[in-house]
Amino acid sequence: MSQRILVLNSGSSSLKYQLVDPLSGERVAAGFVERIGEEMSLVQHSYKGTTTERREPLATHRTALRTVLAIFDELGPRLADADIAAVGHRVVMGGKYFAGAVLIDDRVIATIEQLSALAPLHNPANLAGISVAMEMLPDIAHVAVFDTAFFHDLPDAAAVYAIDRQVAARYSVRRYGAHGTSHRYVSRKAAEVLGRAVTEFKQVVLHLGNGASVSAVLHGAPVDTSMGLTPLEGLVMGTRSGDIDPAVVVHLSRNAGMSIDEIEDLLNRRSGMKGLTGHNDMREVHRLIDIGDVDARLALDIYVHRLKKYIGAYAAVMGGIDALSFTAGVGANDAVLRAETVSGLGFLGIEIDAVRNAASSDAPRLVSPDGARVAVMVIPTDEELAIALETMSLVADGKGDDGALPVHRNLIR
Ligand code: ADP
Repeated sequence: MSQRILVLNSGSSSLKYQLVDPLSGERVAAGFVERIGEEMSLVQHSYKGTTTERREPLATHRTALRTVLAIFDELGPRLADADIAAVGHRVVMGGKYFAGAVLIDDRVIATIEQLSALAPLHNPANLAGISVAMEMLPDIAHVAVFDTAFFHDLPDAAAVYAIDRQVAARYSVRRYGAHGTSHRYVSRKAAEVLGRAVTEFKQVVLHLGNGASVSAVLHGAPVDTSMGLTPLEGLVMGTRSGDIDPAVVVHLSRNAGMSIDEIEDLLNRRSGMKGLTGHNDMREVHRLIDIGDVDARLALDIYVHRLKKYIGAYAAVMGGIDALSFTAGVGANDAVLRAETVSGLGFLGIEIDAVRNAASSDAPRLVSPDGARVAVMVIPTDEELAIALETMSLVADGKGDDGALPVHRNLIR
């Protein structure tokens, strides 16, 4: 049986790809196209330790993917010989319809399209990648892996907003979460590192990248998460505000004369660490703090304060906490931020070992002291591998005796 998965992540002006062996975790080849539709696009492809970069005008996702497929054949590995079992597509919004990965067909495409109202920046771009890939690789199974699926069965108490029920129902307003592929992967990896079954314990997972979210995973199933209808809710992020009083929107609309599009841009792209310090990169924030910048110091205090609130809240929601995992660009690399986040949480049993925390390593690891009540961990996430694993498991277990591909067991009507 074929072993490898081609993972595609299509954004509004980008296309990232990886050829992954999900069983060994090996990244066989990887690359991206950036600035699709601009005057000059950038294409990068890495294979066997060699990275090749090219600049050429690529007007659409179609031309971008055609270029990527040609590059595979030119620079290797040749796709026809690459042993590909399926293509796994990242899709941001699965709404109430998708509880897990599904094989893509016309019905799935129509449902993803219908969900574009909830994710106008993402789902149309994801669909563009899907349709071009299906056309160009027609003999391979294509699977959609949703950012929201892990949170599909959040308890209603966590997922339903306290607004008029009819308005909410008519416009599908509820909390869907995001980063689900990462939260699922990290919560399972944490259990593996601890040598325990994921069903045995209470975890809080902190995915802190440019986008940031936290989840409460009780006995393997998420019971709350910080992102809501969209990825804007929750933690302070690189450029997003996270939680604010919704009346801020009304106030700015009425009194600052800002349009809805301007407010959306403000809260998504000009807020968070960027809004507070001018920089969305946490390394730059630390550099400013080191030279005495008080705004940067306050920004980090706000970021950490929000994190502590969520950790405390989720411990309360689960009736305790056994493990706390840090992941993504900031979570996995920023030892100072980890130390500040857990400081003062000893009352919950959360402590950190300074030497373990400061050690630089790419491996999943424990950073709490031996014998601590809560296992504090650093678990580097790998969203492409997680997508490849979900894609492979769908294609592998779904095949019936006749070799037919899986039915839509994760598509909820
Ligand atoms: P994305 O949400 O874009 O996938 P990543 O998970 O790759 O983001 O995280 C990117 C962010 O990680 C960068 O904006 C940067 O702030 C942060 N980061 C990377 N390395 C470090 C580091 N050594 N210390 C602090 N922050 C870091």
